Amino acid sequence: MAQTRQPTTVDVAIIGGGLVGASLACALGDLIEAEQARANEQARADERESDGEPRAPLRVAIIEPQPLPSVDEVGAYQPSFDARASAIAHGSRRHFEQLKVWPTMREQASPIRHIHVSERGHLGATRLHADELGVEALGYVIPNAWMGRALHARLDRLPIDWHCPARVETLEPAHGGYRLTLDTGEIIQAGLTVLADGGRSGFKERLGIESDHHPYQQTALIANVEMSRAHDGWAFERFTQEGPMALLPLTGRRMELVWTHEQGDIEEALALPDSLFLDRLQRAFGDRAGRFRRVGQRHAYPLSLITARETIRPHLAILGNAAHSLHPVAGQGFNLALRGVMDLAAAIETARANGRTAGDARTLAAFEASRTADTHRIVRFSDGLIRLFGIDHAVLGYTRAAGLVGLNALGPLRRTLARRAMGIER
Ligand SMILES: Cc1cc2nc3c(=O)[nH]c(=O)nc-3n(C[C@H](O)[C@H](O)[C@H](O)COP(=O)(O)OP(=O)(O)OC[C@H]3O[C@@H](n4cnc5c(N)ncnc54)[C@H](O)[C@@H]3O)c2cc1C
Repeated sequence: MAQTRQPTTVDVAIIGGGLVGASLACALGDLIEAEQARANEQARADERESDGEPRAPLRVAIIEPQPLPSVDEVGAYQPSFDARASAIAHGSRRHFEQLKVWPTMREQASPIRHIHVSERGHLGATRLHADELGVEALGYVIPNAWMGRALHARLDRLPIDWHCPARVETLEPAHGGYRLTLDTGEIIQAGLTVLADGGRSGFKERLGIESDHHPYQQTALIANVEMSRAHDGWAFERFTQEGPMALLPLTGRRMELVWTHEQGDIEEALALPDSLFLDRLQRAFGDRAGRFRRVGQRHAYPLSLITARETIRPHLAILGNAAHSLHPVAGQGFNLALRGVMDLAAAIETARANGRTAGDARTLAAFEASRTADTHRIVRFSDGLIRLFGIDHAVLGYTRAAGLVGLNALGPLRRTLARRAMGIER
């Protein structure tokens, strides 16, 4: 039976230790360490000559219900054929470098050196190359489980209050912040609470924060496939009448398939025997990546655009999927969330340097002001991509093909778009 204890007071409580919550805790790592070093220095000075209370260093708690693999298991990691992966933009790599997790991340990262965008039934393809843009890779594909482990291994070395496995059961405004009750009986009083729960806990709704839901009536079929030849760092996006599809390079000859289906077609696509599924995939995709030799487990994700109408309140910020859940074909969800993480960490650092708290209204207003334009742009971009390519209309079809060919011819514009897609330019 869980025991109720005295509340623990923290500056920042992060609900959810998924990719976004764990990234935020890592992003606050340098600030925590710097403030601790200053506090230690001041404590030593105070021993010599006492002048007032030293300010306590930033205290951060993170709560995650899923048990984590032990840090030792990080070294023993072997990606299975079916491991889920995400496309990480070049800009996100720079953020991971700042978080000091990139050296571990890159061990399992497959670089995207070229991108090929095409449309079935129409001439013209857009090709983007990393070397044209003067970068090592346009992006990287990294298994989600590996990203999680790299983040958790870094957190393990930071002075952070880890509550895992533990679930936040209640969240109530109290004493200039929020009071969190965990299923372990612990109580946390936080100056700033960050909702990074992927929209899964129901707290957003319980707090009366409304969201706009736009179901696409589509489902993404995700599976890893093995190709007859090496992918050489090519990623493919292809727009077909059945829906957009993306093929991303993984280690070896494996690639990750994201194939959007109309709602009514998904059950059949999931149930097809592997050989028939591979035939259908080959017909839809063509031969540009080689022959599809093997398919792993197929998963279905119903797609919708969900955006929270509020992302801040006094003492509360919402990040990641809880704030915006996008169509995965453009691979932007986590990249966008990571920019939010970096901006929130920067706003907290500025606030602390100016004697303000993490949860005060000016800190959160500064965070929101830094996010609005980027979030709107990415939501419009991913939503527009699906609408533009989802409409089955011959005239539009040619316009799209022309657009793709035109895009290929317009060097500087294409480079700007590519830099945006890579997260180098906003
Ligand atoms: C099919 C698919 C493919 C994608 N591909 C890409 C891609 O290629 N590139 C990209 O940038 N993005 C991609 N995305 C988007 C990306 O996966 C999300 O942006 C990202 O996973 C969001 O992470 P999160 O931490 O916000 O949420 P989650 O991963 O859902 O994590 C939330 C965490 O909160 C915890 N939690 C829930 N309730 C509680 C509670 N009561 N108390 C404490 N903790 C709680 C959960 O256990 C979980 O660990 C894709 C999405 C999908 C669906």
